[in-house]
Amino acid sequence: MFLAQEIIRKKRNGEALSTAEIQFFVNGITHNTVSEGQIAAFGMAVYFQDMNMDERIALTSAMRDSGTVLNWDTLRVDGPIIDKHSTGGVGDVISLMLGSMAAACGGYVPMISGRGLGHTGGTLDKFDAIPGYQTEPSSELFRKVVKEAGVAIIGQTGDLVPADKRFYSIRDNTATVESIGLITASILSKKLAAGLDALAMDVKVGSGAFMPTYEASEELARSITAVANGAGTKTTALLTDMNQVLASCAGNAVEVREAIQFLTGQYRNPRLYAVTMGLCAEMLVLGGIAQNEADARNKLNTVLDNGKAAEAFAKMVSGLGGFN
Ligand code: URA
Repeated sequence: MFLAQEIIRKKRNGEALSTAEIQFFVNGITHNTVSEGQIAAFGMAVYFQDMNMDERIALTSAMRDSGTVLNWDTLRVDGPIIDKHSTGGVGDVISLMLGSMAAACGGYVPMISGRGLGHTGGTLDKFDAIPGYQTEPSSELFRKVVKEAGVAIIGQTGDLVPADKRFYSIRDNTATVESIGLITASILSKKLAAGLDALAMDVKVGSGAFMPTYEASEELARSITAVANGAGTKTTALLTDMNQVLASCAGNAVEVREAIQFLTGQYRNPRLYAVTMGLCAEMLVLGGIAQNEADARNKLNTVLDNGKAAEAFAKMVSGLGGFN
């Protein structure tokens, strides 16, 4: 048994917290047994004193386990559960193509995506541009579409990582969002709650990126890969340019149109193609579907050119009610 104020004091004084202390505090965030003031003080203590990698792994794992963690074993799929996450960009429509491309190569992509944050676009907002598409399906429908299409992109359900929901809103109000340790735990707890075998991270760099400098983006990428691998999910990160719009357009409906043009081979913006292929190749190699990057690129070009990736996208959209 611990006292929240003792945990805050220890961190304020620059000491490392034990896994048990971190689990106790996160449990308190989830069950309202630590107050908003204590959470704010904890966030500020971490902001100034930081957390080492072991503490970050403990924080991420405790937050991941604060709600439902998806389990795909009973789905009996014949490929790895893989995903990608981006720190957010403009004209970043990659998820729409990449999920379908990875699925067409034999992966299973249960992607839980978010709304736009600040000036960056949200994948969920893009899907809202497709009439009928359900971004909040039942868990049965979500699992069915993952199994049958190989990919389903939906929004966060209420019982996924409740600790982050409370913690993030307090961080937002108390100027403690900008802590690499806390950002790492916030992003990864939500991604790892999807029960992934492997994750490719897209950490944006440049004037349109969430992190203010190249060095900060690099530090976040190193933190995320160390913590995710430490928490048991094979993860790599690419640093990609966000000094200009990634697709040829920016806007929800027009980006969906560009994704369809990309998948059907009508038009592939070279910058968008380069980043999508790079990230998707990481997913295939991490998931064991491809031997190496060259093999992954061959497989991805094949499913783009033979229409299988476009087919997976169509199956996902119709499975989730789109255009019905
Ligand atoms: N996105 C998140 O989900 N959490 C953060 O802390 C920052 C960006």
